[in-house]
Amino acid sequence: MSLKIALMPGDGIGPEVTEEAVRILKNVAEHSGKAISFTTHRIGGVAIDTDGMGLPEATLEAALSADAVLLGAVGHPKFEGRLPSERPEAALLALRQALGGFANLRPAICYPALARRTAFQPERVRGANLLIIRELLGGLYYGEPRGFEASGNTAFNTLIYSRHEIERVAKVGFERARERKKKLASIDKANVLETSRLWRAVVSEMGKNYPDVELEHVYVDTAAMRLATAPTSFDVMLCDNLFGDILSDQAGSIAGSLGVLPSATIGGRVDLYEPVHGSAPDIAGKGLANPIGAIASAAMLLRFSAKMDKEAAEIDHAIEDALAAGARTKDLASPGERVLSTREMGQTIEDALNEVRDRKHSYHGV
Ligand code: NAD
Repeated sequence: MSLKIALMPGDGIGPEVTEEAVRILKNVAEHSGKAISFTTHRIGGVAIDTDGMGLPEATLEAALSADAVLLGAVGHPKFEGRLPSERPEAALLALRQALGGFANLRPAICYPALARRTAFQPERVRGANLLIIRELLGGLYYGEPRGFEASGNTAFNTLIYSRHEIERVAKVGFERARERKKKLASIDKANVLETSRLWRAVVSEMGKNYPDVELEHVYVDTAAMRLATAPTSFDVMLCDNLFGDILSDQAGSIAGSLGVLPSATIGGRVDLYEPVHGSAPDIAGKGLANPIGAIASAAMLLRFSAKMDKEAAEIDHAIEDALAAGARTKDLASPGERVLSTREMGQTIEDALNEVRDRKHSYHGV
């Protein structure tokens, strides 16, 4: 059966990086025999300009009838004066809500070749490879009641979680941990918050069904400190909406550039894959964007939406190999290093992917 991918390149560097992710997916289709079909749809500023709205009906319909959505980025400075609800970013929020994914997966890898580019001492960060799983549809960001009191001098939000909401995201956490190093750190503030006490109790109960996964509970403040001092001590981190929002950005610092970070939002009607970065208007159209975040998002798409673990792992290897061989876009380059364009980086990763595959074949042939 064909894998139907709805492409939403969006604004700014979105189309440039999406093109390179598609290059890699086409390569995978050609070599694996898996039929992959693509349709392309407008979202964000480009849709406001053409269709008068950020998320046209046709785009939403295409997303809902696809097997997966691969998005570039949205946003353009010319819409900055508008109300939040009329800006391109509102279209992405509406799309995420319509697709209904409740688990946001943000891997953060310190590629050995980039360890020196991080704010860490290289020996502290080398080997760090984290997966943050953030609950996305509940908690403080959605809890009611919320608002301002009439005086305008008091404001309030509600932090609320139900067992069901915790169970479904914890299941994703345990299953991902099982596929990786079998280590899960559940993040909470159970010494202060009742919601965290429920979170901890539910995750502990579920842990009994995953005896092969080593579960630890870590207070969020301790987790922040550990991420900053010993990032290699974590593998999979399970977080509520607020803690995950903050810690996933902090974890991103181990990667060395925003341009290499991918993400997936899963568990809803259709899963959504997108690089973490925005539309980067300062470099759009110049061939300077790093496509690795988009390419690594495409690898996540193959892993989660097509169960093509082998092909996803080969892409991850190819990215690592390309970086190890010195491939650098501008955001990664040190003074004096050769700078590749977006397209050249995509081509270099495709070449590395072909080599990864060839190496495997010749190894099996021996
Ligand atoms: P940004 O992520 O677009 O850019 C931040 C900085 O990182 C810029 O200097 C940019 O040049 C650089 N950068 C980002 N991605 C890069 C890449 N792939 N390669 C090389 N350098 C890269 O964030 P911003 O400047 O705060 O926002 C720009 C626009 O994007 C705004 O309209 C914002 O609302 C929107 N935005 C969209 C998303 C999304 O679509 N998911 C996420 C964040 C921001």
